[in-house]
Amino acid sequence: ESFDAMGLQENLLRGIYAYGFEKPSAIQQRGIVPFCKGLDVIQQAQSGTGKTATFCSGILQQLDYSLVECQALVLAPTRELAQQIEKVMRALGDYLGVKVHACVGGTSVREDQRILSSGVHVVVGTPGRVFDMLRRQSLRPDNIRMFVLDEADEMLSRGFKDQIYDIFQLLPAKIQVGVFSATMPPEALEITRKFMNKPVRILV
Ligand code: AMP
Repeated sequence: ESFDAMGLQENLLRGIYAYGFEKPSAIQQRGIVPFCKGLDVIQQAQSGTGKTATFCSGILQQLDYSLVECQALVLAPTRELAQQIEKVMRALGDYLGVKVHACVGGTSVREDQRILSSGVHVVVGTPGRVFDMLRRQSLRPDNIRMFVLDEADEMLSRGFKDQIYDIFQLLPAKIQVGVFSATMPPEALEITRKFMNKPVRILV
């Protein structure tokens, strides 16, 4: 299997190859196409398997680039991980002209607000700052169609459960959800039961 056979846009393929990927990893082979179809997906995978490029490709493939409004939201447990995802998203989406912003704690709220009001397609962030931006209406949820929880088990063990639930409440009801997690503790399963619609399960 190759990236070419996945039905991805030419400019996304260019970004993937320019980034240095030649062949999809196991999780990418199984996960990118269902995500691109708009299905809810639970992917149980460790980091190091290529999960970041899986959901970044799925999001980049589905964005409407003529609409400079947030259409995809990715949550991660740490600032560092959120910023790393931001970089991968930006690199893979380079030829598509994607606008991505990382909303993480420890940075200027004003600066976040300025960048969000200037218009972005994708927001990647930690639950606290993202919820803050939603609460202040600096991040408008109306056009968000894709929601990814990366390292869901890690976010839950860091006590982000309530904030994740609060964020779900503010998002449109009909939304594609992707959950990536190395393990599936009861709290993670509860999220998949509460917020996902007939999810595809992929275990790598
Ligand atoms: P991740 O699991 O997303 O943290 O990715 C782990 C590492 O694998 C990162 O350094 C990626 O750049 C790399 N990687 C992901 N997908 C591929 C691929 N298809 N080919 C080569 N390297 C990859």
